[in-house]
Amino acid sequence: MVMAREDSIGRARHSFARTWADAIAGTSYVPLGPEELTAYLLGLTDRLVDALMAPRYDPAPAGRVGAGLAAAHFTDTETLSRSVAVLSEGLPELVGTPAPPDLAVRLGQMSGALAAGYAAALRELTLEEQEAIRSAMLVARRDAEQRLAASEARFRAMFTEAAIGIGIGDLAGNIQEVNPSLLRMFGYTAEQFTRLNVSDMVHPDDAPSVWPLYEQLVQGNRDHFRIEKRFFRSNGEIIWTHLTVSLVRDEAGAPAYQVAMLEDVTERQRLQSSLEYLAYHDPLTRLPNRALFSDRLAQVFAEPAADRRIGLCFLDLDGFKRVNDSQGHDVGDQLLVAVADRLASCCGPGQLVARMGGDEFVILVTDSTGVDAVVALADGIIATLVAPIRLGGQELTVTASIGIVEQPVAATDPADLMSAADITLYRAKSQGKGRYAVFDRGRTDNEIARFTMSSTMPSAIEQGEFLVRYQPLVSLADGVLSGVEALVRWLHPTYGLLGPDRFIGLAEETGAIVPLGRWVLAAACEQTRRWRDEFGARAPFVSVNLAPRQLEERGLVADVTSILADTGLDPHELQLELTEQAVMRDEAGPMKALYALSEMGVRIAIDDFGTGYSNLSSLLRLPVHGLKLDGSFIKGLRSVDDADPTDELIVSTLVTLAHALNLTVTAEGVETAAQLERLCSLGCDAGQGWFFAQAGPAADIAEMLRVPGRGPFGV
Ligand code: C2E
Ligand code: MG
Ligand code: MG
Repeated sequence: MVMAREDSIGRARHSFARTWADAIAGTSYVPLGPEELTAYLLGLTDRLVDALMAPRYDPAPAGRVGAGLAAAHFTDTETLSRSVAVLSEGLPELVGTPAPPDLAVRLGQMSGALAAGYAAALRELTLEEQEAIRSAMLVARRDAEQRLAASEARFRAMFTEAAIGIGIGDLAGNIQEVNPSLLRMFGYTAEQFTRLNVSDMVHPDDAPSVWPLYEQLVQGNRDHFRIEKRFFRSNGEIIWTHLTVSLVRDEAGAPAYQVAMLEDVTERQRLQSSLEYLAYHDPLTRLPNRALFSDRLAQVFAEPAADRRIGLCFLDLDGFKRVNDSQGHDVGDQLLVAVADRLASCCGPGQLVARMGGDEFVILVTDSTGVDAVVALADGIIATLVAPIRLGGQELTVTASIGIVEQPVAATDPADLMSAADITLYRAKSQGKGRYAVFDRGRTDNEIARFTMSSTMPSAIEQGEFLVRYQPLVSLADGVLSGVEALVRWLHPTYGLLGPDRFIGLAEETGAIVPLGRWVLAAACEQTRRWRDEFGARAPFVSVNLAPRQLEERGLVADVTSILADTGLDPHELQLELTEQAVMRDEAGPMKALYALSEMGVRIAIDDFGTGYSNLSSLLRLPVHGLKLDGSFIKGLRSVDDADPTDELIVSTLVTLAHALNLTVTAEGVETAAQLERLCSLGCDAGQGWFFAQAGPAADIAEMLRVPGRGPFGV
């Protein structure tokens, strides 16, 4: 199957290489038969297709392919233009699926790179050829008498057969001899040519740059110069050439005459500039494309003045996919063109609008005067998009979200700037449509950290990066360590030991809380059973936090059942802590789970009680066994005369009510002896807090259990 597929890919490429060979055969004189040429082009085809399909497009291979064409002696530019035509048509069909989304852009850039590589290699070749001719001439002049004739003949042969134009003139610029290539190039007869002076053909715009060089040469102060310049042909047309002029000296070393060698690069220049346009512009909207934008951006960073600032509006149309899906791609395309026009109309000098792909655009402010100016630009863009766009009898309204970044050039780099713009655009989108957001470094660092943390959490569970700490729950009547709360921590490889406030919210959002919660439950149950094995009846029960999302999970009851079975823990030794919000809901599923757990014998406690404004009496209808009073109420409990009367009243009321409902009360956040004393006198059942102990490793709890009698907190 795989073989068959590879075969068919190979056949397609081979047949393409043959088409290419047919197209360029005869454009230049090349000593290759049709089969050899096809084989050679097949090699180039493979390189081009591979480059097109690469995850990141790199123009270098196309440049090397262009150079390869020149190296194979395809020295006529006709070869290049035919190749580009054949490649643009045939290559897309050779690209496998899925094709890269920016295939069109890649093809454009590929043609440009190919032409540039070809031109550069051809120039090299020409220079080599010119050097050979020049040295042959020098040899011809200097050689001994008897070898003169042979050298002369060799020079003659090169002179007449050379592909480049060669002209010989005296020091006054009178043309004395020209070769056939030069005649063809300029369209004169040899007769007409020899009546001309060099100055007659120089394009007036080039004169200032040419004459000083020319003067130095004829005066013997330089031996040659090279320049790209224009001439007039016999019919008045302009011809672009690479020109090399060399000085030939007489026996005594005095300047004798000059030799000009010219290569016609007119076609290549025209082709190259149109290919360059293609490579740097989006064919649909005619706006600069990503490649041009990146070039311009790099240029700004290459010239960073001390106080230079850069601004960027990164823009994405809202709901463009819907337009495309419902109205068709033609309408989508027209809409993009209309938007591009409006964007271009918002921008002035020093501002570059580019299409980055799809419905993404960017406006680069190369010398920003401050964030206000860039915000004003974004405001202008949002305003200009308000008016409906009329397309083929219907009116479409479009809005865009914009991420704005404005910074000193010295404080950032292109990659950083783009990722800041990306994140800021994302934030603008999430705040609603048709808005802009301005980049804020502190906030973004946080978002990046959150983003990376949430995506690595599942694997972190498997890697064993999480651990459980235990905090004593102390019975206030006798000071006995009756239970422990299991509190999770993340030993993060980059950020160090993280508390749950850093990742539990995130885990809830992403759903990672489900596997994480299951892992904590299993670890805590396992640990508690070990204490029971070692300490028997003195061992504490364990209280494990359950996130709302876990309660919604269908498998919760089954998970708890199997964890208890696997670890050998009795259901009475487990308490689950839930917040008011989690339990006070109408949905049937979570309620059923709560009842099932309770019936198994697992205790349910309401965590952070008092912060959720729930109606205490409605809790009565739920299978709840205890309340954990939020630490904020305990803060106001100090010594009798110094107490906050409101907190004091709340705590005493809650304790009374809870007891009336047959619920136990645990006070959270007990930090002082005074608080403990007040809680005892108000009749609170249990306490938890730094006054007793912070959350610590399991070994600390074992230490406490080893203290004889009622333990370390016993009274
Ligand atoms: P929580 O369940 O109310 O846990 C009590 C928190 O109060 C713990 O913070 C504990 O260290 C802290 N604390 C204990 N005594 C004192 C004190 O005297 N003063 C003060 N100011 N604070 C005290 P921690 O460990 O940072 O946990 C924070 C929250 O994270 C927990 O609040 C709980 O809601 C959540 N959490 C912790 N572990 C898990 C877990 O495994 N699963 C789920 N779903 N949530 C967890
Ligand atoms: Mg808790
Ligand atoms: Mg709590």
